[in-house]
Amino acid sequence: MNAVTTLPLDVESLRRDFPILQAVLHGDQPLVYLDNAATTQRPRQVIDAISDVYETKYANVHRGIHWLSDQSTDLYEEARQKVRHFIGAVHREEVIFTHGTTESINLVARSLGDGGFGGQGGSLRATAGGFRAGDEILLTEMEHHSNIVPWQQLAARSGAVIRWLPITDDGQLKLDELPALLNERTRIVAVAAVSNVLGTINPVAELIAAAHAVGAKVLVDAAQSVPHQPLDVVKLGADFVAFSGHKMLGPTGVGVLYGRRELLEAMPPFLGGGSMIRRVTRDGFEPSDLPAKFEAGTPPIVSAIGLGAAIDYLDRIGLPAIHEHEQRLTEYAHKLLADFPGLRFLGPEPKHKAGIVSFVIDGIHAHDVAQLLDRSGVAVRAGHHCTMPLHKRLGINASTRASFYFYNTLAEVETLAQGLHEARDVFRRQKK
Ligand code: PMP
Repeated sequence: MNAVTTLPLDVESLRRDFPILQAVLHGDQPLVYLDNAATTQRPRQVIDAISDVYETKYANVHRGIHWLSDQSTDLYEEARQKVRHFIGAVHREEVIFTHGTTESINLVARSLGDGGFGGQGGSLRATAGGFRAGDEILLTEMEHHSNIVPWQQLAARSGAVIRWLPITDDGQLKLDELPALLNERTRIVAVAAVSNVLGTINPVAELIAAAHAVGAKVLVDAAQSVPHQPLDVVKLGADFVAFSGHKMLGPTGVGVLYGRRELLEAMPPFLGGGSMIRRVTRDGFEPSDLPAKFEAGTPPIVSAIGLGAAIDYLDRIGLPAIHEHEQRLTEYAHKLLADFPGLRFLGPEPKHKAGIVSFVIDGIHAHDVAQLLDRSGVAVRAGHHCTMPLHKRLGINASTRASFYFYNTLAEVETLAQGLHEARDVFRRQKK
């Protein structure tokens, strides 16, 4: 067997933990789930943890002075500690539960970007200075809309200017253009650790060093990175890191914003309401300490606890093995599809990629490819994947994306390739 056909994990035994992966579609097609960049599936352990909270330990957190509330508060705070440990953060106050990557990025764009009123001392008073006209925000051409639109909204409010770090034709950042784009006006650099379309693993540490050298802050969109490969926020030196629970075996409706403590302390609250205040008078409010300051209202209690169970599961397997497994699948997909007529891969060679394989096929629309693959039980995504500027840069309107997780097998990659050949045959027959 060559290197590409051996895998580091016992996938068959892991797959037994995932009830949905046993599904059979259209009568006789086993589900081949290759849409993990959109959302992953959940193992029995996470589903059980969620049911267990609802059945035995559910109440609102931090408020009730009663036994059940203590139980759910303990579990919720335990989940925060699991996240803290998972990403190498030093302080629990640096882990804010949000509803997902999108909200985490909006939080930073609003709070850091607007500066504004902290409400300290019973009256509203201006805190950290917001972005001003002429300030610069640096994004890359491969960002997800979640890491574009909040900055465009901030630019519209403040007069700040957005600059774009370009990519090469094979989907890597043009780092040689970085010095010309960074200057003392750059307030923030917001970059994906891994592109959700190209799969490119970006040199985030290098970007952070360059940004810090001009005094800019860095937000890392780690939605496609934290679930798949080790990320240590301290070693990386990141100021902010955003990710979502549902892309890492956890429930929907919970995400994380990591932020360096001194930055979060200086930033005004994002949403106002219950839980984020210490005191409210008719004249103003005094915000709570971290992390409550950024967790207004009832938080996603059970989802956060479910995320904690997901982290336990991922820790047992180990992210290095997960990353290696996914790279083998990516290499195998590239190998099987290398000579597929009219197929163009998006993004770099497998060695620079995570487990994401996007492509276009001459003469067949991405949506048709996805629909025909579905006949073989293969779930992939088609469209612009919330990256319209990237697709425009690549000169295409849509692409098809297969994205892997540790429970995918080499046989499933073969089913993908086989399904694509069948799709091509269908199209050829239709054209005759
Ligand atoms: N950034 C990237 C790179 C993503 O892949 C996604 C999800 N597709 C998001 C942000 C947004 O994540 P969510 O929808 O969970 O907020």
